[in-house]
Amino acid sequence: MLSQKLKFLILFFFLLVFGNANSQNKSVLFYNANLVDVKSGKISKNQAILIENKTIKSIDSYKNIRNLASEKIDVKGKYIIPGLWDMHIHIEGQDLVDDNKALFPVFIAHGITTVRDAASDLGLQVLKWRDEINEGKLLGPTIFTAARKLEGLNSIWKGDLEIENEVQLTQMLNYLDSLKVDFVKITENTLKGDLFLKSVIEAKKRDYLVTGHVPYDLTIKDLANEGFSAIEHASYLLRLGNDENLSKKGILDGSLTKAQAEKDFLMNFDQKKAIKAYSDLAKKNVAVCPTLIGGKELAYLDENNHKNDDFQKYLTKRFMANYQWRIDRMANETAEQKQQRKDRYQLIAKQLPFVQKAGMLIIAGSDCAALNTFVYPAASLIEELGLFQKSGMEPLEILQSATMNGAKFMGKFDKMGSLDIGKVADLVILDENPLLDINAVSKTAGVFTKGKYFDKSALNQMLKDAAKKKAELDKSRE
Ligand SMILES: [Zn+2]
Repeated sequence: MLSQKLKFLILFFFLLVFGNANSQNKSVLFYNANLVDVKSGKISKNQAILIENKTIKSIDSYKNIRNLASEKIDVKGKYIIPGLWDMHIHIEGQDLVDDNKALFPVFIAHGITTVRDAASDLGLQVLKWRDEINEGKLLGPTIFTAARKLEGLNSIWKGDLEIENEVQLTQMLNYLDSLKVDFVKITENTLKGDLFLKSVIEAKKRDYLVTGHVPYDLTIKDLANEGFSAIEHASYLLRLGNDENLSKKGILDGSLTKAQAEKDFLMNFDQKKAIKAYSDLAKKNVAVCPTLIGGKELAYLDENNHKNDDFQKYLTKRFMANYQWRIDRMANETAEQKQQRKDRYQLIAKQLPFVQKAGMLIIAGSDCAALNTFVYPAASLIEELGLFQKSGMEPLEILQSATMNGAKFMGKFDKMGSLDIGKVADLVILDENPLLDINAVSKTAGVFTKGKYFDKSALNQMLKDAAKKKAELDKSRE
């Protein structure tokens, strides 16, 4: 006779194996799908795609794999693309922890399953959220983050890592190592060019991807030569239509102001020279994250009234109070300066097809942030992709910039960024074909991510909950 204790142990073992196996084997089959291969631009019709847990297990005809799934979803007439990547966001604001957290499902509802956080004063909190999302404790997009960025002393940015010599640079890189950040971000508000360049060199020695702005006292070529991974914001590309060395020299010897340099970049822009420079950058594997939408919002602030923007139902009063600083900063601009902003925006946007043709990797990012006026989280990536299309990029190129290019850039393309067997199952189901018009990415019928399927009504519920949370937070602060 088995002892009572042994019987109990056997039962326990049984439950452990089979109880676990049951949850491990959860499989979902989407069938009648038009699968969009972002690598080739081909659409495979009437396909079935089998997902087990969080991985794409099989892609085949329905009859071959229909018996392998515990749940089957008919997506007749729909298009399936990989989850979208927003490659430049900021989750920021020490007093906006709850506000930001409530927006994570809003990203999912917009089909954005991965984001790259380009540093903020909330860096440490973002690292925690990154890990909680990876562990399945919190629902949100997969996060890659720089956590906190390198800057010079007394910069305008909160929560950055301010350095003024190489000893401090080493200390801060050690600190970033300890945080296990996903890349290093550097900006130039008060950081001098030589220490900026040294920061790139030292971070590269530690095998980091290094991205950032471009200081006036360096050239893009200086950065590219040291292995700079990506230029954040396409606005810097305008320098490449000029003699970068000349403006750098002028800034360094004091004969040129930054404002004059900016005006020169715009007025003396030589398209041929820029195109040549783009192909040089492509050869050096420098990527660019254009972030057009922010510049556009500011340039056209006098023409667009944002008072009734629907998206504001998700943003707390405290979140939106941050919008005012850029509006104030521009309040005294002359008519000429306003026009210059618009001309500048148009010239920047015009560069994208040239950049694409030159072979640079374009990674789509919105730069959404509490501090970036009217650049709404999640929704602004969709707008950004629409701007890419207006600039003359092809829908396939745009779709690539918001899916596989992000994965390629982060060194994750073997696991993410396309609909291929063995990859992470991040899928967006669309009502319309995004290869005909990229604006189809806003016609979301469902999202599969983090091992779960959210149909249209589940996504709508997420948005309703986010609006409710915003109202609660506003109320609690009255
Ligand atoms: Zn940014």
